[in-house]
Amino acid sequence: MQAAFFTGHGGNEVVSVGERPKPERGPGEVRVRMKAATVNRVDLYMRDSGAGITHKIPQILGVDGAGVIEEADDPAVIGRRVTLYPGVVCGKCEFCLKGEPVLCAKMSLIGEHRDGTMAEFVCLPAGNALPIPDNLDFAEAAALGVNYLTAWRMLFTKTRLQPGETALVCGVGGGVSLAALQLAKAADARVIVTSRSADKLARARALGADEGVDATPDKIPKAVMELTEGRGVDVVIENVGGAVWSAALKCLVRGGRIALCGATIGDQPPADLKRVFIRQLQIFGSTLGNPDEFAELISWCEQGRVRPPIDLRFPLDKVPDALAHLESGAQFGKIAIDI
Ligand SMILES: [Zn+2]
Repeated sequence: MQAAFFTGHGGNEVVSVGERPKPERGPGEVRVRMKAATVNRVDLYMRDSGAGITHKIPQILGVDGAGVIEEADDPAVIGRRVTLYPGVVCGKCEFCLKGEPVLCAKMSLIGEHRDGTMAEFVCLPAGNALPIPDNLDFAEAAALGVNYLTAWRMLFTKTRLQPGETALVCGVGGGVSLAALQLAKAADARVIVTSRSADKLARARALGADEGVDATPDKIPKAVMELTEGRGVDVVIENVGGAVWSAALKCLVRGGRIALCGATIGDQPPADLKRVFIRQLQIFGSTLGNPDEFAELISWCEQGRVRPPIDLRFPLDKVPDALAHLESGAQFGKIAIDI
């Protein structure tokens, strides 16, 4: 089968598109004929180094994806349009048993620990293939599996954003941030976004953002306080780290909640512990989400409350160009791979 895979670590010179063995379907698994994937930061990470993530080379890229079930134990699901939950879990550990499989210590992620979705076929446990509504195309459905699911858990499971509350979403050009903007608006919250790009702030407003502020860290708290009459925001959604983390803490109202799912510019910012305990802030670490959260997200899409914007589409043989486009930071919305 045709697939996009990396043959070493480095830049796009280690990315090939060509023949890979068609995967064998094991018991309890479905074979999905892939129709689309989207590009995520983690694809660049795996290509660049994959440090700290057990994986074999060559490995097929792609963490999210959607397609059609072609083979399964249960004939009733054959032909079903599905999107893929990216984590394969053990089903037996204390976390799996208490309904938090996203915490499974043995979780194996497609595109990270095992072959990914930028291929003609993927085999996964049947429970990893969730049905999608007719009003989503395959690329839109693929986009849900990483960015939208991550944003969903941060907003609704961790910080429990309520209608009428104000959320600050940092770095709105990023995939999780854009998803958080859309989901928070769909939940009737007021949303302030940050970006260094005036163009991205304008596009975020067009997608529903109530306010946009310049993302220069030392300017964020003042701008946010002005927009909230000196009160601060109820919830911050953060994935940048570094100086942005310190700025984000200063934007929170007393008792406010902050969730983070990344630290791309630095994971050791000042802890500012006095602020955390005196103002009784709540800090949530988060990554990905559970299949039941994913199903709820998909139902919001079915109701027309959320639809992922697709920035650009590339065919499978242009995956290196898609990675370069993501690296440029010029995108606004998901970069899709049509398979
Ligand atoms: Zn487990």
